[in-house]
Amino acid sequence: MNYCKKCVMPDTRPGIYFDEVGICQACRAEEQKDLTNWNERRKNLDDICNKYRRNNEGEYDCIIAVSGGKDSHFQVHYFKEIMNMNPLLVSVEDNFEMTSAGKHNLQNISERFGCHLITLKPNRKAQKAIMKKTFEKYGKPTWYIDRLIYTYPLHIANKFNIPLIIYGENISYEYGGKERIETYSAKNQLNNGVASDIPYDELLDDNISINDLIFCKPPNQEVIDKLNPIYLSYFVRWNSYANYIFAKKNGFKDLSHEWTREHTFENFDQIETPAYLIHPWLKYPKFGHASATDYASKFIRYGLISRDEGIDLVKKYDHRIDQRSVKEFCDFLGYTLTDFYFIIDSFYNNEIFEKNKFGEWVLKNPIWEN
Ligand SMILES: [Zn+2]
Repeated sequence: MNYCKKCVMPDTRPGIYFDEVGICQACRAEEQKDLTNWNERRKNLDDICNKYRRNNEGEYDCIIAVSGGKDSHFQVHYFKEIMNMNPLLVSVEDNFEMTSAGKHNLQNISERFGCHLITLKPNRKAQKAIMKKTFEKYGKPTWYIDRLIYTYPLHIANKFNIPLIIYGENISYEYGGKERIETYSAKNQLNNGVASDIPYDELLDDNISINDLIFCKPPNQEVIDKLNPIYLSYFVRWNSYANYIFAKKNGFKDLSHEWTREHTFENFDQIETPAYLIHPWLKYPKFGHASATDYASKFIRYGLISRDEGIDLVKKYDHRIDQRSVKEFCDFLGYTLTDFYFIIDSFYNNEIFEKNKFGEWVLKNPIWEN
């Protein structure tokens, strides 16, 4: 593993590009923000909003895909209160037990900004069957939910004839992934690593039918061509820490009064359901880094911590898996802990990990030894 010279991201992150001096594309994307003409970008957003704003009362101007998190709070504020649009909020709420903060935040976003929220509560039986399959086969337990988060707003946009759809940041461009060119259009988002499709013949079996996957399939191309999904991060300087500070001032709750997570050092990102966190943690056995690397890298890019402080955080947290998350995940799917760790073990990548004399998987080339 090679690590970015500026942040703590390794080159094992899928699709990430390192330049000739060893700086990752996410660090370069952050630097690029200082050179971007944001006034010009804002004018472009004005033009888009003017095109889709329907001034006559009783119609929606845009859809905002929300989770209820800090970024959703900022997005809804921006379109409703700065761009004066009338947004319809759309979310996918998985069947895991929610945290109190997660429940509160989804209510808060509707009450604070005064918006309707359409929520898809996926088929619980299908969710369990599909999760087990994608967990055991690909190490992607929440693929079903992640896919629906991207596809469901497209169906609602089509159904209610609301072509403008707002997403937060372009994850692939902002944090490193296949998309290296900055673009406002979120049309390619369906192919980013998190939500890209899985061939259905690999999923279908006695417990999973094609009807369980109806919303996973985006509308047909003719419909997609008429929609305009965009990233707010293209038009407005995006900073997830600033979004958190904004959201907190507007009623958003973090986990500080509820739960100290073992796997990371922040308490405000992906806080809706403990069980969901097994999915992002699985990056660790597969690619040798997880949430602490992601957040330490962001904080270094934002100038909040030094690279040495980031390395200490990675060393302390990245290998840890949160026990409440494990328990709620296993309870939901009916795994014993033995089953769970047996499956997890099969995902460790032998090229980057080895077992120490205690039988623990350890990185062959951790950043603190570089
Ligand atoms: Zn970097």
